[in-house]
Amino acid sequence: MAGDLWSDALKLLEIDSRVNPVFYKTILSRMEMVRFDEESDLLILSCRDDYALSLVKGNELSSSITNAVNTIADANITVKFILKGDEDAERSTVIAEDKARRRDPVIYNPSSLTSEYTFENFIVGDCNRFAHASAVSVANNPGSRQRNPLYLWGNSGLGKTHLMKAIGYSIKQNYSDKNVLYTTCEEFTNAFVACMNNKKFDDFRNKYRNVDVLLIDDIQFLIGKEGTQLEFFNTFEALITAGKQIVITSDKAPKNLTELDSRLTSRFQNGMTMDIQPPDFETRKAIILNKLEHDEISLSDEIVNYICENVTKNVRELNGAYNIVSAYYALENGNLTLESVQSRLAAIISPNKKKMLTTEIVIDAVSKYYDITPDKMISKLRNAEVVNARSVAMYICRDLLDMQYEKIGKSFGDRKHTTVMNACKNVESDDTLMQDVTNIKNRITDL
Ligand code: ADP
Ligand code: MG
Repeated sequence: MAGDLWSDALKLLEIDSRVNPVFYKTILSRMEMVRFDEESDLLILSCRDDYALSLVKGNELSSSITNAVNTIADANITVKFILKGDEDAERSTVIAEDKARRRDPVIYNPSSLTSEYTFENFIVGDCNRFAHASAVSVANNPGSRQRNPLYLWGNSGLGKTHLMKAIGYSIKQNYSDKNVLYTTCEEFTNAFVACMNNKKFDDFRNKYRNVDVLLIDDIQFLIGKEGTQLEFFNTFEALITAGKQIVITSDKAPKNLTELDSRLTSRFQNGMTMDIQPPDFETRKAIILNKLEHDEISLSDEIVNYICENVTKNVRELNGAYNIVSAYYALENGNLTLESVQSRLAAIISPNKKKMLTTEIVIDAVSKYYDITPDKMISKLRNAEVVNARSVAMYICRDLLDMQYEKIGKSFGDRKHTTVMNACKNVESDDTLMQDVTNIKNRITDL
């Protein structure tokens, strides 16, 4: 997600009427994301020069940027601007801050288990039904042997962290004596590296081994970190032996984490493994309807269906689209039409629909391919090079646009329909030209 946060926010800024298009083009679109720290909700962006930096730090632009970023990330993010080239200096202050923070060991961070991620606000559908059911069972009966560890996997943005935090939240509500620790694999790794440096192994082990429930998010980040893997293996063994519950999330099934120590992956499969699939239409719609109800927004079914039919990859994107629409709903005092929603979302909805093809687009693509000017294609010129290019263009018009010979003839300098028919036959019987047709068609459909 981190990689996309800034590029998605840019799409919003591009259509934000408060942002001057010249600023967008010359300043915002040239900024780069240095880092996004999800733990502290800090986004660092770099500008190319002092002038750009002073402008984005100004009230108006900086609040538009922060709004756009928050809308996309669905969180309250602090945006920091630096000059390009200052990344290293920035990083060293962060490391210093980080070290200072580690001197003061935190047993666990209860704030990460909030009522934001609960079973109540998790929509269940065919795509996540089993994962949800096993998460609820673990929350009701932590440490039971059949579901230990519980291993949830699936692509990004499908609700793994949400379900994992819901387990933690529910256990904290129902078993107030249980010590629940939610941590990301990265945090675990950083803490381990820090303890190697300052030799405070006891602190580290006290933190991770004296828990009743360990929730460890995105375990795939252990790949390539041999020392941490070994430490995690020992932590895992200690907790499981003591009957403590472990929940793990990952982007892959255990057997596909081939770069991880096989002792770990085989242990992961000893409990219960559940995958989450991308949300089906009904689940997407239920998620949107739930949000509309919560925010007391009413949208026509047509608009809701449009969103749910077009934003399909994952729930995070769906939430991003919803945030855009609800922001405009407020701006427009509730008067949203399908057309206005379509244009607001145009920047984020991947155009999986075919672009409207025209003879001009075909002629343009063919003339580029053969390096012949478009006017030659419709001219009376009869040298082989031009005739071949013209015939190929006619063939593609018939093939992709389903045009009649007569109509094609009219578009190509008023030629007779028999001329077009013969041209198409010639192309069909020539393997080289047919290969050109395939190449050009690929270029056109990639547009
Ligand atoms: P992952 O950890 O799989 O990358 P997250 O748990 O962070 O995904 O989910 C991304 C966003 O989508 C979160 O805001 C989460 O609350 C929301 N979300 C995911 N699945 C659902 C669901 N079934 N119902 C409601 N919200 C969901
Ligand atoms: Mg996650």
